[in-house]
Amino acid sequence: MNIILMGLPGAGKGTQADEIIEKYAIPHISTGDMFRAAIKDGTELGLKAKSYMDQGALVPDEVTIGIVRERLSQADCKEGFLLDGFPRTVPQAEALDNILADLGKSIEHTINIEVPKEDLIARLTGRRICKTCGTSYHLIFNPPQEEGKCDKDGGELYVRADDNPETVTNRLEVNMTQAQPLLDFYKAKGVLTNINGQQDIKVVFEDIEALLKGNRS
Ligand SMILES: [Zn+2]
Repeated sequence: MNIILMGLPGAGKGTQADEIIEKYAIPHISTGDMFRAAIKDGTELGLKAKSYMDQGALVPDEVTIGIVRERLSQADCKEGFLLDGFPRTVPQAEALDNILADLGKSIEHTINIEVPKEDLIARLTGRRICKTCGTSYHLIFNPPQEEGKCDKDGGELYVRADDNPETVTNRLEVNMTQAQPLLDFYKAKGVLTNINGQQDIKVVFEDIEALLKGNRS
């Protein structure tokens, strides 16, 4: 089962990734993990990637794609894999197709967890932190008993700069702009499924299971 998982920040992608890899016993392959492993193993490409990262530079596509090729060729990907954070661009998606064709594989599902922008903004701006003790709250997921006050010490709750609506909205819009061509690419291939991420986490996973069931027979 060869899957790409997509979703904007706050859509709950991480939670669903954990559920998928546990249920289907396939490796979770994220770009960060791949880089870390290649660097740790001291592979030629890993060292190359490290030299760019040490300079604070972007790792060029040819290096990233080489690392993806090595990773997908490993034995644990034989029965499938869950790609997360790669590809990010259409050229990367095309390179991925070539890698998979060489390995006699293809992407069977691109799962996009969809949550409306307004909802994501509410999720991503809801964090509140106590000025006194640093305890973290969330207006939707873990609200304090009294508005604006810490449950433990009554300290004032504040919003981190990263969580302010303008910053969050900008970040989301950049992500949406980047993701759209990829969504179009996989839609044209007939492998894209949008999953409603506004539902309860369990229901979101049930929808994913129902989708993947058709693939298991
Ligand atoms: Zn506190």
